[in-house]
Amino acid sequence: MYVVLIGAPGSGKGTQAGVLAETSGLAHVASGDLFRAAVQQGTELGRVARGYMERGELVPDEVTIAMIMERLREPDTARGVILDGFPRTVEQAQALDRALAARDQQIDLAIYLRVPTEVLLRRLSGRWICRVCQATYHEVFRPPATPGQCDACGGELSQRPDDRLETAERRLQVYFEQTLPAIEYYRRRRILVEVDGNQPIEPVAAEMLGALGQTTR
Ligand code: AMP
Repeated sequence: MYVVLIGAPGSGKGTQAGVLAETSGLAHVASGDLFRAAVQQGTELGRVARGYMERGELVPDEVTIAMIMERLREPDTARGVILDGFPRTVEQAQALDRALAARDQQIDLAIYLRVPTEVLLRRLSGRWICRVCQATYHEVFRPPATPGQCDACGGELSQRPDDRLETAERRLQVYFEQTLPAIEYYRRRRILVEVDGNQPIEPVAAEMLGALGQTTR
C-alpha cells in the first residue's frame, strides 16, 4: 500500500500523515523531515538543501528523488508507505511511478488536503514546534499549556525559520506553481481523493482513514 499525501504548507499534512501511519502501521516518510535532519547533521545533502529551504524554494528534483529512493530501499517500507511532502512536482511523481513499477508496486491512493489560502497563511505564521520531540503547536489554534514549552516532553518550542511570513508566502507561491500540477497528475490517474483540511484534526483524520479503508477493500 503506497499512499501519497499532498497539501500546501500549513495544511496539516505532517500531523495527518503521523496519525495515518500510526493507525495503518505503514511507514511515514516525510521529505521535509529528511531534509531538516540532513541540515542538522551537516551532511552534504543538508548543505545542498539548506539554501533552498531557507528561501522557501523546492530542492532540485534530482536531489530530492535520489534521497527518497534511498529511503524507500530501507526494509521498513516493504509493507507500504505514507509519503508526506513528496512528490511535489510532476517530475517527482513520474520518477516515483517508475521506481515503484520497477519493484512491481504502484501508488494506490493520493490524498489532497485542501485548505483555503488565507487559512494557510494564518496557520503558518503562528506555528511553533518542539525542538526535542517535534510536536506542533499554534499560538491561537493549539497553544501549549505553558508558553514556549512542549506539553508532551517539556522541550523548548521554536519557530521554523521557513515559517516566517515572507518565506511562508514564497512557499505557498511555489506550491501553487509546482505542486498543483502534481495533484492534477493523480486526478487524471483517478486515484485522487480530496479531503477538506479546514476542520479540526479529528474529523480530517477520520475522512482520511475512510479513504484508506475504501482503497484497501
Ligand atoms: P515541508 O516540511 O514538507 O514543508 O518541507 C520543507 C522544505 O523542504 C520545503 O520548503 C522544501 O524546501 C524542501 N522539500 C520538502 N519536500 C520536498 C520535495 N518533495 N521537493 C523539493 N523540496 C522539498
